[in-house]
Amino acid sequence: MDKRQEPLDTESMKTEASQDLSDLRESLGDTTFELASLKFALDEAAIVAITDIKGTITYVNKKFCEISKYSEEELIGGNHRIINSGYHPVEFFRQMYRTIGKGEVWHDEIRNRAKDGSIYWVDTTIVPLRNREGKLTKYLAIRFDITRLKTIEEQLRRTLQELERSNRELEQFAYVASHDLQEPLRMVSSYAQLLNKRYKESLDEKAEDFLKYITEGTHRMQQLIKDLLTFSRVSSRSKPFERVDCNAIVDGVLTDLRLRIEETGAEILTGHLPEITGDAGLMRQLFQNLISNAIKFHGSERPVVSIGAEEKDSVWEFCVKDNGIGIEKQYYERIFLIFQRLHEREKYPGTGIGLAVCKRIVEHHGGQIRVESTPGNGSAFCFTIPKTAKQENT
Ligand code: ADP
Repeated sequence: MDKRQEPLDTESMKTEASQDLSDLRESLGDTTFELASLKFALDEAAIVAITDIKGTITYVNKKFCEISKYSEEELIGGNHRIINSGYHPVEFFRQMYRTIGKGEVWHDEIRNRAKDGSIYWVDTTIVPLRNREGKLTKYLAIRFDITRLKTIEEQLRRTLQELERSNRELEQFAYVASHDLQEPLRMVSSYAQLLNKRYKESLDEKAEDFLKYITEGTHRMQQLIKDLLTFSRVSSRSKPFERVDCNAIVDGVLTDLRLRIEETGAEILTGHLPEITGDAGLMRQLFQNLISNAIKFHGSERPVVSIGAEEKDSVWEFCVKDNGIGIEKQYYERIFLIFQRLHEREKYPGTGIGLAVCKRIVEHHGGQIRVESTPGNGSAFCFTIPKTAKQENT
C-alpha cells in the first residue's frame, strides 16, 4: 500500500517525536538539547517566523503555514506583505520597524489576510536577535491566534454601541414625550378649573365629583411627567463632575425635609460623610429620594433614619437605614424599576420613580445600589461611588 495513503496514527507519531528527541539528546550536548527542546515547545504553541533585518522571511513553522494557508516555499524568501490585510495604517508598521530596528522588542495585535482571503488576528511579539558581535541579524516573530477573541470583542463593542444608541434614543423619547405631554395636560387642567369656577352654580353634586376626579387625575399625571422628565435627564443634563462634600449635601436635604421630619417626629442620625467626585445636583437628588423614602415608609414606630459611609477599597459605600416597614426579598430588584410600587397610593403616596432615578444616578457615577431588608424591621439602601468616579460619555 502507498505509504501516503495510510491513516494518520497520532499515537505512533507522538512516540516517534519523543524518540526523535531522545535521539537528539544523544547526539547533542545538554545545553544544545535544552535549546532544541525549547524550540520544539515554541513550535508546538505558537506561530513562529524568522526574518533577516531587511524583513525577508528565512524561517516559518508549521503553524504559520496552517494559519496563513501559504506553503513554506511560498513564504521563504518573501516578506510579510504577503499576509498584510491593509487594515493597519502605514505608520503602524513604520513604528514597528523603528522599534525593532533599535533592537527593542515590539508587541501588538495584527490583523492578517490568509491566502484564501480569510482574515485572522495574531497577538504578535517581535524579538530582535543579535550575533556575538552585538549586531542585529534577525527578527524572531512569535504570534498567537486571537481571531476568536477579536471576533467576540468586536461583537461586544457593537452590542455596546447599539445599547448606548438605543439608550440615548429612549432617553430622548422619554424627554420629548413627557415634555410634549405637559402642554395638553395643562390645558385639560385649566379648563377643568375654569368649568368649576364659572359654572359651579349650575353643576349638580355628581358633576362636581367628576370635575374633582379630572383635577386629581391631571395632578397625578403632571407629577408622573415631572418624574419621568427627571429620570430622562439624569445623564443628559448631568454637569461636569466636581468635588462634592456629602455632609453639605445631606445637610441641605435635611433642611428641605424639615417639615416632614417635624410632622413624623423622625430621628435622623448622620455619620461623617466623605468628599466624592460627582454631580452635586444629582447626589442631592439621590440622598433626597432615599431619606424621604426612609421617613415615608415607617410603620407604627416613629422613623429612625441613619445615614453613614464606609471606605471599601476603591469605593465609598453609603447606606441609608431605616426602622420602617421593610421590603420582602422577592421585590429587591423590582423596586428599582420605573413606576414599580408595592403599596396603594392612598397608604403611601408616590409615583414609583424615586428608586429608578436613584439607580440611574448611582450608575451614572459608576457605582451600584442594592437594598437589604427585614420585613417589618426596616431597610438599608446601600450604594457605592468609586473614589475616582469618571463621567460616562452621554
Ligand atoms: P415611590 O416612593 O414614589 O413609590 P420609589 O421608586 O421611591 O417610589 O419606591 C418604590 C417602592 O419601593 C415603594 O413604593 C415602596 O414600596 C418601596 N420602598 C422604597 N423605599 C422603601 C423603604 N425605605 N422602606 C420600605 N419600602 C420602600
